Amino acid sequence: MAQPVQGQPLFIRMHPDDNVAIIANDGGLPAGTSFSCGLTLREHVPQGHKVALRDIATDAPVLRYNVMIGQAIEAIAAGSWINERTLRMPAPPELTNLPIATRKIEPLPPLDGYTFEGYRNADGTVGSRNILAITTTVQCVSGVVEFAVRRIKDELLPRYPNVDDVIGLEHTYGCGVAIDAPDAYIPIRTLRNISLNPNFGGTAMVVSLGCEKLQPERLIPPGTFGRLSEGSGPEFGLVTLQDDRHVGFDAMIRSIMEMAEGHLEKLNRRRRETCPASDLMVGVQCGGSDAFSGVTANPAVGFATDLLVRAGATVMFSEVTEVRDGIDQLTARAATPEVAEAMIREMRWYDDYLSKGMVDRSANTTPGNKKGGLSNIVEKAMGSIVKSGTAPISGVVSPGEKTRQKGLLYAATPASDFVCGTLQVAAGINVHVFTTGRGTPYGLAEVPVIKVATRSDLARRWHDLMDVDAGRIATGEATIEDVGWELFRLMLDTASGRRKTWAEQWKLHNSLALFNPAPIT
Ligand code: CA
Repeated sequence: MAQPVQGQPLFIRMHPDDNVAIIANDGGLPAGTSFSCGLTLREHVPQGHKVALRDIATDAPVLRYNVMIGQAIEAIAAGSWINERTLRMPAPPELTNLPIATRKIEPLPPLDGYTFEGYRNADGTVGSRNILAITTTVQCVSGVVEFAVRRIKDELLPRYPNVDDVIGLEHTYGCGVAIDAPDAYIPIRTLRNISLNPNFGGTAMVVSLGCEKLQPERLIPPGTFGRLSEGSGPEFGLVTLQDDRHVGFDAMIRSIMEMAEGHLEKLNRRRRETCPASDLMVGVQCGGSDAFSGVTANPAVGFATDLLVRAGATVMFSEVTEVRDGIDQLTARAATPEVAEAMIREMRWYDDYLSKGMVDRSANTTPGNKKGGLSNIVEKAMGSIVKSGTAPISGVVSPGEKTRQKGLLYAATPASDFVCGTLQVAAGINVHVFTTGRGTPYGLAEVPVIKVATRSDLARRWHDLMDVDAGRIATGEATIEDVGWELFRLMLDTASGRRKTWAEQWKLHNSLALFNPAPIT
């Protein structure tokens, strides 16, 4: 990995015992290409795709990351292209007899002296942005809230220069749903905890229709912010569109704008102050992954994850289906048996959830993943887990829960980019890190998203969408440590508002997508 890719033919093997490696060169390599080790390609192998390093017998294991990612359906000769058509996927690991907190990990040395400029909230959390968020109880009010947000931004926001943005927390939940179904607590608490995200300054402003199933006091019960009451006020507020006092559309907009003004006044008094790096709460995830995800971007994120843990910060990794095949690694790394048991409980819940839909974790991979060289979910998972670095896992966050725990946490969420991001926002993140190989313009209105490209080719083509080029790791231009440090510093700069991410620059905002495992009616 010392030579730039443009030079000689290059493959990347992740572990000495692996019998496959991936082709690093842009555009792949043609049949007949010889490597310095004597291996010759029998056919064209695309970039990121696997080549057999040795002859592999029928049914023999195919090893990448020293993990069996599948068995050969037929005998595979050295130099052949290995893909999803030549591999049989193994069954997922059982959720019994797992190693429980068995790995005794030496504590990482503390990392002191790193700070950022953040907005300290009354509850001790720290925001990286200063945003007025308007919570909605139901989709019915979305059009009205969108209209009001446009007017607030045009007419009010210029008078409050310390406020970064005004957003409507819109979603498709709230009515037409089985609100008393056992799993309905997940979307409800997700929505509640999103409105408590540190970037919103601890004030709730709610717009309700009036007749919906998700009534405001159920969404935000008394005590969440103090008390939720009718009328405008700096701490909390509720506008109900069906109120008798609203005669005409303009009256509704006026009510929302009046209440927004009270909140803007309060938010405008917020000032950034120097906060230790331990106040960072970072969510990491990947989307549009390719075979380089586990070689470049995710290991760099893993290195940055260790730096965050060393600095006393919170960092959470997620995506159940993308860690399910590595559950034994994770339970072994759990700091305590309770953490391991909580992880198993989340995996079991998710296995049941998927089996109700007659699928399993293998429903995860996309055509793009496969085109990018990932043959199946096992291979994808091994590359995904490395985002978690090497620290012990000190806690588990269930879907929609808010957390104040420090250290490396596992936040159990679907792998779906928008659902994972939404649940991490609810968990309380103030910075989001997103790695991609195929490329996605993903962004959130609620929290800045730093995007990391797995390949330099993507980083070059999407130069004004990707914030970090981790592809330099594959070409030998940078090390995992270099990119990990770059990312860590970029997190501090982004959290401080000194840097805007590309997604912020272009205002690329994906919709919130609540995870609702309960029926709709
Ligand atoms: Ca994802």
